[in-house]
Amino acid sequence: MRLVLLGPPGAGKGTQAQRLVETLKIAHLSTGDMLRAAVKAGTPVGQRAQAIMDRGDLVPDEVVIDVIADRIREPDCANGFVLDGFPRTLPQAAGLTELLQRAGITLDGVIELTVDEAALQERIANRAKETGGARADDNPETVTKRLEVYRAQTAPVAGYYEAREELWRIDGMQPVDEVTEAITDALAEMRQREFHRSDG
Ligand code: AMP
Repeated sequence: MRLVLLGPPGAGKGTQAQRLVETLKIAHLSTGDMLRAAVKAGTPVGQRAQAIMDRGDLVPDEVVIDVIADRIREPDCANGFVLDGFPRTLPQAAGLTELLQRAGITLDGVIELTVDEAALQERIANRAKETGGARADDNPETVTKRLEVYRAQTAPVAGYYEAREELWRIDGMQPVDEVTEAITDALAEMRQREFHRSDG
């Protein structure tokens, strides 16, 4: 299956993506993880991205679109993938549509985890504690900035997929296992839809 997970920082995308990877045997494509690896390795992309990420802004669209275009051609994506943290802007969503078209593949669906914003700062603070402050951008000021960026630039992406009738909204405030269950139900609906499409 080919999926997109949308939702603000701290919504639980990473946790749910990990579960999807295990149950569906698909690749986990997190642009955040890829960019952090590039920063660590000191590649040109990493050097360009570091300061932007540290202040909670978005890396330019063309950079992440190129990263994803290369990544989905790799053999481990043949069985499907879950995109986590991409697309994050309308131009990225359009770029994804175009590159999938060129590759002759389609998305099965887009899952948006909706959350109460007030809970996000606390969730991210907990993550920072659990990971021993592994992420430089999990401090309160940068999180505030990341949430602003999400509202302004990423929230409209859900509307893009809603208009295409590819969006499933799931309440991300539920306990983790219940979110997973709701996602499993959404996947069943996606398969059903695909079945009817290929049938007709
Ligand atoms: P994440 O791990 O998804 O929260 O991403 C961490 C940071 O990486 C973000 O705050 C951005 O600076 C950058 N980033 C990750 N994905 C994207 C994307 N699709 N577009 C632009 N910047 C991104």
